[in-house]
Amino acid sequence: MEAYAGRAEREVEEAQGFVLREVPRELPLRPGRLAAAVAGASFIGPADGHDFPVLFLPEVLLDAAELRVRHPDIESGGILLGHLYHDPSVPEVFAVMTALVPFRPEHTEATAASLRITPEAWMAASAAIELRGRGELALGWEHHHPNRAWQADDAETDPVGDAAFFSGADVGVMTATFPQPWAAALVVSDTALADGGWATRFSVFGWREAAVVERGFHLVAEELAATLAMGEMSHVTTTGT
Ligand SMILES: [Zn+2]
Repeated sequence: MEAYAGRAEREVEEAQGFVLREVPRELPLRPGRLAAAVAGASFIGPADGHDFPVLFLPEVLLDAAELRVRHPDIESGGILLGHLYHDPSVPEVFAVMTALVPFRPEHTEATAASLRITPEAWMAASAAIELRGRGELALGWEHHHPNRAWQADDAETDPVGDAAFFSGADVGVMTATFPQPWAAALVVSDTALADGGWATRFSVFGWREAAVVERGFHLVAEELAATLAMGEMSHVTTTGT
């Protein structure tokens, strides 16, 4: 039955022109229903039907923005924890980012324009996963582009009004540490406003055809956040298995 379901899913994928993605069987996939998880959610960023869905709980973005404020002048960040779900009615897995574990300063080498993550940072993330006890996975990472600081450092250059990009160094971190097809990277940067002020911008990057590109994400509705934080969709899911 399961084999049949797998074949049927592949046929659906091929019929719709989706790129097949191998999901190792040992991956802890939870049963979930995408339509229920994105009910009331906001979609942010560029849409591409080939991307698997990535959902963020509101507090993950709030924590990232707070971290950005605490470290205004250097590239800081953290590791994104979350759950992977399988919805039998859609061909892809989907990811729900549930928490941000900030890098400890001693676990990174950060400057205004670079960020190096040491192996101790990954050990700290594993410890956090254990401590939280929710069976989360490290699904990606977050870092900041302090472009207001970049601009102040070099008044000769054009204002860096929008730093929503992924640098070569960022791609290096992604390749070395998050090569999995479902991995995602959140970038928090500043966007210059017409009135001279600044707004916080959240951008998500992920893999598409062996390259890291900006991709869209769902911001989960507040009323579903607590349920999804625990990795539970039992009251909103009908998996049929
Ligand atoms: Zn960067």
